[in-house]
Amino acid sequence: RIKSVEFAGAIGQLGQQAPESARGMPQVAFSGRSNVGKSSLINRLLGRTRTAIARVSQSPGKTQEINFYRVRADLGDFFLVDLPGYGYAKAPLALQKKWESVIAEFLTAKTDLVGMVQLIDLRTGPTADDLRSVDYLAQLEIPVLFAFTKSDKLSLMKRQEQFRSAVQKLGIDPDQAIPFSALNGEGTQQLLDTLGELLFP
Ligand code: GDP
Repeated sequence: RIKSVEFAGAIGQLGQQAPESARGMPQVAFSGRSNVGKSSLINRLLGRTRTAIARVSQSPGKTQEINFYRVRADLGDFFLVDLPGYGYAKAPLALQKKWESVIAEFLTAKTDLVGMVQLIDLRTGPTADDLRSVDYLAQLEIPVLFAFTKSDKLSLMKRQEQFRSAVQKLGIDPDQAIPFSALNGEGTQQLLDTLGELLFP
């Protein structure tokens, strides 16, 4: 159960470190393509249906900071790390490259990172960008959970088909993947419970 959430700081440049308060604390990061539904998932997860904490994007590809939120939960405190969305075609290449290096710097340091939630749009399945991200996380040996977003947009039959296909393309265990809808709340409790196990073993 989540008790409270507050913004704790951000990394906006190469060479910057995680906010002081987040150091030595368990952190879990969220990654996905721009527009995959990351802000919506984070707000839903944190029970922020009215006062959003993560900004739902009016203009995709704009969240250009690694944002840290301190979350107080009944099991203990942890930090939720919101990584900038990738794969926004209209973002200038130089900016995309800059962001790749900022993210890479944070992930390779991985001092306090206990795991990642990788978001994949259930309708489209993993894109080339997604697969690249997943390969990278595997190389870094970061434990990854998958949230398959916007599940409400598919019929029951289509969902099962897409779920199986995405699991296969990603080469993961079905237990690592959770269908999620920010709209109707599907997957919220399952994701929270799984994160609880990861953060507070
Ligand atoms: P982000 O760029 O990954 O942070 O994505 P956002 O959370 O800003 O969502 C992008 C768009 O998808 C917005 O128009 C959201 O309203 C919509 N969206 C996000 N999650 C869901 C969902 O679970 N179901 C539906 N139907 N739409 C969603």
